[in-house]
Amino acid sequence: MSLKTRLLGLAAALMIIASVASWLAYRELSEDIIERWGQQVAEIQVRYDSARLLQSLEREIGLARQMADSSTLVNWATSPEDKALQRDAIREMESFRSNFRDNSYFVALRDSRRYYYNNADNEFADDQFRYILDPDKPEDAWFFQLIEEGRNFHLNVNPDTELGVTKLWIDVLMRDEEDRIVGMVGTGLDLDAFLQDIVDIDQEGITTLFVDYNGAIQLYRDRNYIDFASIIKPEGQKSTVDLLFDNPEDKQKVLGMLQLLKNRGGTTGAVESSFVTVDGRKHLAGVAFLPAIGWFEITLLDLETLLPRSYLWPLVAVFLTSLLITLILFHLIIRSRILKPLVSLESAVEKVRGGSFALPHLEKPDNEIGRLASHFETMTDTLAHSTRELERKVAQRTDELNRLARIDALTGLKNRRGLDEALDEEIQRAKRQNNTGFGLIWLDIDHFKAINDELGHQAGDDILCRVALWLKAGVRPYDHPGRWGGDEFVVVLSPCDEDTLCQIAARIRETIERDSIRTGTPVTVSVGGYLCQPGDDVDTILRQADQALYRVKQQGRNKVLITDGSGQEINPA
Ligand code: GH3
Ligand code: MG
Repeated sequence: MSLKTRLLGLAAALMIIASVASWLAYRELSEDIIERWGQQVAEIQVRYDSARLLQSLEREIGLARQMADSSTLVNWATSPEDKALQRDAIREMESFRSNFRDNSYFVALRDSRRYYYNNADNEFADDQFRYILDPDKPEDAWFFQLIEEGRNFHLNVNPDTELGVTKLWIDVLMRDEEDRIVGMVGTGLDLDAFLQDIVDIDQEGITTLFVDYNGAIQLYRDRNYIDFASIIKPEGQKSTVDLLFDNPEDKQKVLGMLQLLKNRGGTTGAVESSFVTVDGRKHLAGVAFLPAIGWFEITLLDLETLLPRSYLWPLVAVFLTSLLITLILFHLIIRSRILKPLVSLESAVEKVRGGSFALPHLEKPDNEIGRLASHFETMTDTLAHSTRELERKVAQRTDELNRLARIDALTGLKNRRGLDEALDEEIQRAKRQNNTGFGLIWLDIDHFKAINDELGHQAGDDILCRVALWLKAGVRPYDHPGRWGGDEFVVVLSPCDEDTLCQIAARIRETIERDSIRTGTPVTVSVGGYLCQPGDDVDTILRQADQALYRVKQQGRNKVLITDGSGQEINPA
């Protein structure tokens, strides 16, 4: 597999691993971020919602408590038949009415069970006594229940059938100096307006509800879930908060949180939170206890709505895009800085291995590969130079060897091979030039054995060298003198006619005889010559000349004999 394929594969694998890893990390992280954020928001929201409820109730509760503490009212409650006290008490009630936000109040007396009421329209002016509370009537049960429980303060969401109103009632017990319960006072707040203000807040994804100490729903945007007149309902029949959750685990979780907060005894600001499912969607439920009113505030945050996970997608998109760009850049850099230079270097190496030093253009980036390519180029140049030099020297040597192979070592004349080639060349040349004549002379030193024997081999060599010099001096520059072997010499004469052949042969013989006398060692040579005929081959020519020489030796030596093609002697003109 090529490096390029491997790198591409590696980049793709990296991309996939990084994508999967980032997706998993994103999921984990986004879940974590959303949860952390959600918990913070839940706490803040719970406190905020609680504060809003308390803010809106505190003043009314305070006023109701003041009213319950009013000595005028308490005195009257202990002596309800006293008209003077009743008059004062009614006046006192009316003054509180103008202070309550709802401009309504009620006062219920324990012993007489008389119920007094007036509203914002002052509908019951001078007629505040409305009816007698009946312990047998279910709608009046709240009064008797509260007195029985002796709870000084109570909030009650209750429809008053007698009055035809549904209100959030603030009930406060009235006690005399001996702490005996003498009645109950309070005011009501219009439930719809209250729900609108506190619960029906226009915040998408946030649901606020209030439940009482037992978990019965008191304030909730869906009126059907509100547990009206909770106080008089037996356990098990109450519309409790767990109704909002389908999952039994979630029911347990929420009830568990209520219990936990109860156990803490209403530590101010304590908030519990947990994930629950509402209408099939994951919510974060935050719960706080409001000791001032004995209720719990529950906030449900729909995290998918508040912080959809898709908000974080751009992050993933940015990450993946930058990852992709990084990988593409990485690939481009690897390609231009490593792959392309390597490919060009590889093809250069291939060329050199194939014996060619003409390198293609090499990519040379400014890195190790670039330097390697430079070194390779230099090395190839050096190699090419030394190869050329080597080849030149080999050619030179071969020429020299070829030349030496054709030279006689002792005399420096052509040897037998040189003579053979020269003769062959002359035959070819003669053929090309319409059989221009040429000749061949064969010489043999007379009684050379005796010279060797008498004067020694070295002297014999000297004579051979001298004969060679005389021979050279006796021929024309373009003739080919050579030593055939031993004391025999051959000269190829070209071009040459019979006269020239006779003259040169005679001149050589005379020169050697004459000049050798001067050296103190006279030698003579026998010379056989042959005037070559058209169509003669090498063997024929040599045989003819040799035969002529043989005849000279036969005839007594130191003579020249030239023959022609018919074996006839040619005499000089
Ligand atoms: P002939 O007149 O019949 O030619 O008598 P010859 O004594 O010259 O007889 P031949 O040509 O047959 O003898 C050649 C001699 O040359 C034989 C050998 O001892 C001698 N010889 C051959 N090569 C060399 C050489 O390189 N150096 C020397 N000194 N002598 C050589
Ligand atoms: Mg001889």
